Amino acid sequence: MKFDIITIFPKIFDSYFNESIIKRAQQKKLVKINIHNLRKYTTDLHKTIDDRPYGGGFGMVLMVEPIYKAIKKIKNINKKTKVILMSPKGKKFNQKMAMRFSKLDQLIIISGRYEGVDERVAKHIADEEVSIGKYILTGGEVPAMVIVDAITRLIPGVIKKGSLIEESFSSFSKEYPQYTRPEKIKIDNKERRVPKVLLSGNHGKIKEWKKKLTENTR
Ligand code: SAH
Repeated sequence: MKFDIITIFPKIFDSYFNESIIKRAQQKKLVKINIHNLRKYTTDLHKTIDDRPYGGGFGMVLMVEPIYKAIKKIKNINKKTKVILMSPKGKKFNQKMAMRFSKLDQLIIISGRYEGVDERVAKHIADEEVSIGKYILTGGEVPAMVIVDAITRLIPGVIKKGSLIEESFSSFSKEYPQYTRPEKIKIDNKERRVPKVLLSGNHGKIKEWKKKLTENTR
């Protein structure tokens, strides 16, 4: 699967996408992540990407034209493709949406900045507006990273199958607590231990314990 991210701050992505699982997924060619600098799609000398809002108001708005040009260039019309605009008023991103997007060949993500993006992008260029939650961030780059991350780990071969099956929010939904070594540790003078059942080696019992905890949290 290919991700194409359109941004005015391409460097933001360097570190996050070059670590751990996302890095390996790219090395194994399971995903390809292209970062596109919106300024490359401008036509004027100053590489202008934003302008003042019509009708007045605070701040600057990303212009429709460079975004349109970028999409025209990047979009692979012969493939299963979607264009999404990061937007706080969009549809709330969730695991189901991640699953749906993971079936695509290409996902193009437009990251907004400043006061937002000319509405014509949402209306006539993007297929969907997507929000990562009910709060306002300074830009769409962190939301884009969230979405690429959540989708990448669903692509076959990226992580072990078992991890996906046992996961919170998946259709199998098992959200039990996890423990690792040490077995006991003093925290503020109290001994805190790993639940005995997990050390018992009794897989039937362990399964039951996990099931009960999962039910209790619903
Ligand atoms: N003035 C706008 C906020 C703009 S925030 C408003 O009041 O709605 C600037 C950009 O950050 C947005 O265009 C969007 O791309 C991104 N952004 C901010 N918060 C977001 C969120 N919760 N989900 C997705 N994108 C977000």
